[in-house]
Amino acid sequence: MNKLGLHANVWVGSWSEAEARLAISRTAELGFDVLEMPALDPAIFDIALTRRLLDEAGLASVLSLGLDAGTDISSGDPEKMRAGEARLLDVVSVARDIGAHHISGILYSAFQKYMVPPTRRGIEGAAEVIARVGEKAAASNITLGMEVVNRYETNVLNTAAQAIEFCRMVDRPNVKVHLDVYHMNIEETDSVAAIEMTGDMLGYFHTGDSHRGYLGTGSIDLPAIFKALVRTGYEGTITFESFSSKVVGDPLTGILGIWRNTWDDSDDLVRHAMEYTRSQLKSARESLRTSALMPGQD
Ligand code: MN
Repeated sequence: MNKLGLHANVWVGSWSEAEARLAISRTAELGFDVLEMPALDPAIFDIALTRRLLDEAGLASVLSLGLDAGTDISSGDPEKMRAGEARLLDVVSVARDIGAHHISGILYSAFQKYMVPPTRRGIEGAAEVIARVGEKAAASNITLGMEVVNRYETNVLNTAAQAIEFCRMVDRPNVKVHLDVYHMNIEETDSVAAIEMTGDMLGYFHTGDSHRGYLGTGSIDLPAIFKALVRTGYEGTITFESFSSKVVGDPLTGILGIWRNTWDDSDDLVRHAMEYTRSQLKSARESLRTSALMPGQD
């Protein structure tokens, strides 16, 4: 059974004690198994408090981030690559101390709109850094997820095929592909085929909709996505991610371009996401079972 996760930005924009308490308690109360916490700046975490609250609530955790221009390991600039490796290792330490077993996001480049394509040397350099960070992460039983995002947020991994190739270059068992329906809807020619092609290399999954609001209210064929996840035997975490400028602070609002609020009631959004996800997964599993029925079987 897949664990169901929730991105903390549906509740809070940062990580003060009050925000940590709110995000952790509400996520657990609404029945999720995993809380994904943004770690763009890993210094925001009160590690002991966060770990204690997560443990008390019975929640597993994931840290997510993108690098920035000064820490861009795909830049080919040795100083930025060193700074990026140090940032990623810092996040690995925070994840280990919080008890998180997954770090995901744009770990391989800056999280920004690029004005030029990446270079082969830049991508190879990023893969070397990720391989070293992956080795450190493995010692703490942490998996790294290379999130495939759209062209306005990186120039390195925009499609599942690119992420598969990148993970093969990295060649570490704990470095996997992270797919997100919102980004796939922009870049893939066929999102179901992308999930099938990724197969066992899929380590983490984000749901959402085309406008990043309520599930099922956008233009993405979510039933087909859930069927593909079930059919391919994906057993990892499925995390709902949605953003509103009512909650999200800087710098995410600007980088993600959240100029409209698709919701303002976190509680209602999240309750709906849980019901929708459970219902879709149930439909997908029943669909798979029904498709294999033979005459006379019961
Ligand atoms: Mn995502």
